[in-house]
Amino acid sequence: MNQNIRDRNYYSNVLRFFRDNIVKIIPEKSLLFKWLCLIGFKIAAKKKHILRTSMKIDIPAVEHCNLSCKCCTAFGPLAQKSFIDVESYKRDMEKLALLTNSQLESVCFTGGEPLLHPRLLEMFDIARSCFPNTELSFMTNGVLLLKMEKEFWDNCGKNNICIGLSRYPIKLDIDKIKEIAEEYKIRFDYVGGASTPIKAMWKYPLDIEGKQPLSRSFNICNQVNSCIRMKDGKIYPCNTIACIEHFNRYFGKNLEVTEQDVIEIKKVNNISEIYEFLIKPKSFCKYCNRKGIQFGIEWGISKKDISEWV
Ligand code: SF4
Ligand code: SF4
Repeated sequence: MNQNIRDRNYYSNVLRFFRDNIVKIIPEKSLLFKWLCLIGFKIAAKKKHILRTSMKIDIPAVEHCNLSCKCCTAFGPLAQKSFIDVESYKRDMEKLALLTNSQLESVCFTGGEPLLHPRLLEMFDIARSCFPNTELSFMTNGVLLLKMEKEFWDNCGKNNICIGLSRYPIKLDIDKIKEIAEEYKIRFDYVGGASTPIKAMWKYPLDIEGKQPLSRSFNICNQVNSCIRMKDGKIYPCNTIACIEHFNRYFGKNLEVTEQDVIEIKKVNNISEIYEFLIKPKSFCKYCNRKGIQFGIEWGISKKDISEWV
């Protein structure tokens, strides 16, 4: 077995064991939980510095959201209406298919709330045509699921799109959603697995002054080499960099994204250039106070106060 794959799998298994057997039974608000998570992030850092051999990619179909959760890590409550440009998305997917020989680990449509995009089904078709064997899914808060037309369910069935439901404490008719998914033979699961608890929020505080030790932030960041986003011709190494424009605009700040923080897909000649980019610390990491992370924040509606993100 390829050494890279064995190492990534090894660390994945350690982390899964850690998550399913230890972290899960400890209250998220406790210091012990935070301590264990920071240790978990350190173990994860070993995996993060191993070059990928395949890629999982998130496509933020829209950046705004029909829920407005406090501390949203995609800054959804602060985002103006913005839909991914389908023509640009198609170019990016075709280039990525060329670079990877149509082999990606997974593509997940996310947001904000992806079901708000009026051309989502076209995007599903493009993804399936570029990546015939790749795991395709979308991550939703579920609010719109029962309002979707038959055409939507048919398309999910045809393209083998899996539903990932984030488990917020909101009223949803889960039985009905499952019934329809079953009828159309669509896989359905909660994000984090069937036994995932109701979601509490995590706050990843930003340091507006940008005074955090860059390598330390990077080394204990759980998004590194894992939350990879693609939009508007660029690959972003994490949600924070991909979505910071909403924070900057809403609060009149300038947490700067430099050329070194993103990679332009049209300039990439070989997929390994992307894999290498993903394991290098980014200049933007100086804005992330990863040690100040807070867990177990009770879910609630955002007041759009800067204290939710700093
Ligand atoms: S549902 Fe998700 S994307 Fe929307 S505001 Fe809540 S955390 Fe953010
Ligand atoms: S900027 Fe760096 S530390 Fe912050 S979320 Fe992205 S990768 Fe992690």
